[in-house]
Amino acid sequence: MVRVIRKIGDPILRRKAKKVEKITRETWKLLDDMIETMRKAHGQGLAAPQVGVSQRIAVVEVPKSDAIVGSGVLYELINPEVIKQSEEMWEHQEGCLSIPGWRGDVARPYRIVVRALDRNGNRVKFEVEGHVARAFLHEIDHLDGVLYIDKLVSPDRIWRVNEESTQDLE
Ligand code: ZN
Repeated sequence: MVRVIRKIGDPILRRKAKKVEKITRETWKLLDDMIETMRKAHGQGLAAPQVGVSQRIAVVEVPKSDAIVGSGVLYELINPEVIKQSEEMWEHQEGCLSIPGWRGDVARPYRIVVRALDRNGNRVKFEVEGHVARAFLHEIDHLDGVLYIDKLVSPDRIWRVNEESTQDLE
């Protein structure tokens, strides 16, 4: 089921989301709905607060590209935590499904290690880099009520885009 994506101004986007204590059938349904919602919106990631659920759950799926390591893979993250990050940073544009019509430049660590739970409650660890790491970090920020516009490399590095071309958002 496609869920409604909350837009900037909705207070849930600024709340720190709660840790998932128990994975239930509802968690699975939420994950399935988030995946459907992300794909329908041509997003590369989606966090539970964006669909109105203040829980530490996110999905990431960067479209398959030979140039992007870890692309074409669906990642499901429950209680994700960044446990390592490279000192190397890189700037790139980001967009957000909750802030339609805008893009802005953000600096992020190039490589990260993230620990999380999968949908069966197993501990999983991901070493990701580049665009996939960026998508992970963007979604994990959502779980802390942080939006990419809080992290622009400078206040003028944000610009409008056509709604029609607003794809590959997080
Ligand atoms: Zn976002």
